[in-house]
Amino acid sequence: MAISNNKLTNDQYSDNFSDIHPPFENKTAALVDANRCLFCYDAPCTKSCPTSINIPKFIKQISSDNIKGSAHTIFVSNIMGAGCSKVCPVEKLCEGACVYNLLEEEPIPIAKLQRYSTEQAMENKWKLFDRKPSRGKKVAIVGAGPAGLSCAHVLSREGIDVTIYEKEPKGGGLMTYGIAAYKVTPEFCEDEVNYIISIGGIEIKYNQTLGKDVSLEQLQNSYDAVYLGIGVGVARQLDIPGEEMEGVVDAIGFIYNLRANGFPSVPVGDKVAVIGMGMTAIDAATQAKRLGAKEVTLVYRRTEAEKPCTDVELDIAKLDGCKIIWLAAPAAIKGNENKVTQLICSKMKLGEPDASGRRSPVDTGETFTLDVDMVIKAAGQVPFMELVDQYRINNKNGRITIDNNATSVKGVFAGGDCVNGGKEVVDAVQAGKDGAAAILKYLFP
Ligand code: SF4
Repeated sequence: MAISNNKLTNDQYSDNFSDIHPPFENKTAALVDANRCLFCYDAPCTKSCPTSINIPKFIKQISSDNIKGSAHTIFVSNIMGAGCSKVCPVEKLCEGACVYNLLEEEPIPIAKLQRYSTEQAMENKWKLFDRKPSRGKKVAIVGAGPAGLSCAHVLSREGIDVTIYEKEPKGGGLMTYGIAAYKVTPEFCEDEVNYIISIGGIEIKYNQTLGKDVSLEQLQNSYDAVYLGIGVGVARQLDIPGEEMEGVVDAIGFIYNLRANGFPSVPVGDKVAVIGMGMTAIDAATQAKRLGAKEVTLVYRRTEAEKPCTDVELDIAKLDGCKIIWLAAPAAIKGNENKVTQLICSKMKLGEPDASGRRSPVDTGETFTLDVDMVIKAAGQVPFMELVDQYRINNKNGRITIDNNATSVKGVFAGGDCVNGGKEVVDAVQAGKDGAAAILKYLFP
């Protein structure tokens, strides 16, 4: 039987996908936590933020009821500070570094406080930045994800006219299309993009794919510089027999589908296997469960010690009732009338460390079988190799290589996932800032 959609009632969908980290109930609650901050000198929380937000300063501003000032402090370092307050793995960044951890006390809820002020800024449409007068230069940015938007905002503040070419019908990149809906909703992402471009001087042209609707040569001829923030690429295939069967989907497509088309329209199996253990795998597994799958099993080829997701993300999957099988790799998918019925897995053991420094999985020769009707592939993404080769941009297996944010093609800069292979949203925001600084130096030597 084909996997089905619309498994739950509307109320069940809204319960299952409600905000996982709700905001403060009221101002007093926010002030209580803000007043716990020790306003550390040389604050470790700021040092752990890839965008170096001055955290003690914005918390101090909240405690003195200067919410506008606090939002400015956040946005001047991270224009996606509102979204990052919902999706950053803060347990391994700012909150993980908070000195309260050393005292074995709860760290300051930095993300919640950041959300407290940035959401007020967005809701009230506070205009916190002025654009300098136009300096007569135009820059094209490819990709309206975190790197592209952050680059665009810095350039616009400096009086540069920016046009962003985005392949999707909406901006925000993976923030809009690739993150679990209980962390951040598509509506919030749309508001965030609109808030960022409300500074003026930034036009987004949607449904424009590089290499199809617009070429790099056209952009080079029409603009003074080009910034590529094209993201990491397409889903990695498993390369195992049966992968083409109905019921096998990739995690990014699955998450995209439920964010773009709504929960009831997304087909989900009763017994789902998710391959991988990164954040995307966790988001796919938990959302499959919340869409009504009876049984979801995460399959990972290494052990818990090598997992790429954080402990907090793993706990979300466990709390949602997802099962986890460590040291197992997919070997084949079997089915009936082209519909998935089984996933055959190889039992693995750990061998010598590989290039990533983690011990590599080695096949023991033994297998086991899972009865499933859906397989979600979340085994990473492959960079846009053909695209970057086509434009003779120096790259390493499809990842663009840069020198001070400049690619090997004159006047073309790059940053974010297409360079680093896929990191956090906050890393892409910093990459966009770095790219803008390099472009400004290039335009005004
Ligand atoms: Fe405040 Fe913790 Fe940062 Fe110190 S480390 S400034 S206590 S949030």
